[in-house]
Amino acid sequence: MKPISALFPSLLTPQKVAITTHQKPDADAMGSSLSLAQYLSKKGHEVTVISPTNWAGWVNWMPGAAAVINYEQQKEKADVILENATVLFCLDYNDFYRTMTMATKLAQLTCTKVLIDHHQEPAVDSFHFGVSDTSKSSTCEMIYDFIKEAGDLSLIDLPIAECLYAGLVADTGSFRFASAHAGVHIIVADLKSRGLDHGKIHEGLYDNFLENRLRFIGHVLLHRMEIFYEYNTALITLSKSDLLKFQIKTGDTDGLVNYPHAIQGIKMVALVIDRDEERKWSFRSKGSFDCNTFARTFFEGGGHFNAAGGKSSDSLDKTVARFKEIIKTQSSLI
Ligand code: 5GP
Ligand code: MN
Repeated sequence: MKPISALFPSLLTPQKVAITTHQKPDADAMGSSLSLAQYLSKKGHEVTVISPTNWAGWVNWMPGAAAVINYEQQKEKADVILENATVLFCLDYNDFYRTMTMATKLAQLTCTKVLIDHHQEPAVDSFHFGVSDTSKSSTCEMIYDFIKEAGDLSLIDLPIAECLYAGLVADTGSFRFASAHAGVHIIVADLKSRGLDHGKIHEGLYDNFLENRLRFIGHVLLHRMEIFYEYNTALITLSKSDLLKFQIKTGDTDGLVNYPHAIQGIKMVALVIDRDEERKWSFRSKGSFDCNTFARTFFEGGGHFNAAGGKSSDSLDKTVARFKEIIKTQSSLI
């Protein structure tokens, strides 16, 4: 994989660009894809954003979201766009398997493939150009860097600023995590100087749910959260019947994994959701417990040091029982 700067000469002529991101795109995945799309369109390229799956309703306020193609719903149309693309961007993921059913198609494409991502252990051989940097707070920060390196900061208008800010807020836990380094705040200052109304973005991300989601959180914290003080660990288990009863949709469970961290002494939180195809895990830690290694070792996953995900093909009961056995062996680390 060559450095991203080596890509710039080929962007001097108009390209057919496909921008892709991971399944169930979150604010950083969507924000980075949409901001890059708007920037490249301004530069004269023909750009389409393709998401492997659907996304949370609260992402829809983002400028450009209405034009995003859902691969699961419009596979034929998306396949044609991918086949005709001259440049493929892969944002906020670093291995094709994170795009679910789109993965085989992406691997087969012969166009120029570009990675911009901040997760650990990138599949660098899959990409011709790119930047993979785990010290970056978010992929949105990296898109800002990309535009800056191209000498085009003046092209960042309000819609682009809004998309970038959404990813910065979401991936830094509202500027709380260690990843919110000084450079992040300098970017925010620049976005503010371009007219950004930051309060509007926080509302779009965090005050944009339906009543059922808040009732669901109440139910989960009361009945579905277990605390293991001896291991400084909390576990939330979400069954299919709970999801059905509260009419939970994509994105409604985002952020739930952070709630138990409000309890004194809790250093690690695990949340498992019973999905049709798999049991999907989220792991969040404070301090020195490495969620990425934990997810990779025990649950076929990965991510960042303090935030990672994984999966299991066992039943919900079995995967929860396995987790409870595993944390006993990890207790010295938590
Ligand atoms: P979340 O818990 O929000 O789904 O994911 C937390 C972090 O871990 C995100 O950065 C996400 O990209 C990553 N992640 C989630 N699931 C997986 C997985 O199955 N494999 C890998 N490599 N990373 C994952
Ligand atoms: Mn991200």
